[in-house]
Amino acid sequence: MSEKIVVAIDGPAGSGKSTVAKKLAERMKCLYLDTGAMYRAVTYCSLENGIVDNAEAVGDLAARIDLHLQFENGITRVFVDGEEVTEKIRSAEVNSNVSEVAVIAKVREELVRQQREFGKKGSLIAEGRDMTTVVFPDADVKVYLTASIETRAIRRYKEYVAKNIEITIEEVRANIEKRDRIDSSRETSPLMQAEDAILFDNTSFTVEEDVEKLYIIIKEKVSTKV
Ligand code: C5P
Repeated sequence: MSEKIVVAIDGPAGSGKSTVAKKLAERMKCLYLDTGAMYRAVTYCSLENGIVDNAEAVGDLAARIDLHLQFENGITRVFVDGEEVTEKIRSAEVNSNVSEVAVIAKVREELVRQQREFGKKGSLIAEGRDMTTVVFPDADVKVYLTASIETRAIRRYKEYVAKNIEITIEEVRANIEKRDRIDSSRETSPLMQAEDAILFDNTSFTVEEDVEKLYIIIKEKVSTKV
């Protein structure tokens, strides 16, 4: 790629954003930014410090900790103050609390600032809930990725089963629905489809099909730059 390209992807939980964005980033040889991992890391630290219910303290913590993301071999490794928390941020406890933490304006302010800084490093695929609307409003390509709730719940359920985590599909679905509800209705940068974002429903697509179709869409959009 000759010029800097920003691809912004938003969508609800389980829509396949991370899987697809990672593969696109590898294929396009550009950076990958998993912003959900950042909200998860702040949530994990707040739980560890017993302050998760204190919005002000969580906001202060977000501004204080040294958060570092490192994408290698298809995995985003996450470090807080030098400690690796890659696995810990995927726990059921973090899942249950992350959307409440993501509502806190000071947390968003700080993480959005860091995400924009990251965006200065080079071409990137960034995914989350407010990439197309707030963080990278001038992105070259904007995608709103979604799928039916049944499909999204099954995807997440399979991920838990693969990790030997005991959970029912009903619990997974309830968590997804709760997070989507909070993420879409919050005052600060709610999850929504940006006016100029491409709606991409991948309910009946495989990951490979998603990546292929999105790659074609991106290439068409940025053909003058690549
Ligand atoms: O993408 P992931 O499921 O890891 O995101 C976890 C949570 O982080 C979301 O449910 C949402 O509450 C929050 N989030 C956000 N804004 C982003 C990315 C994630 O509010 N850009």
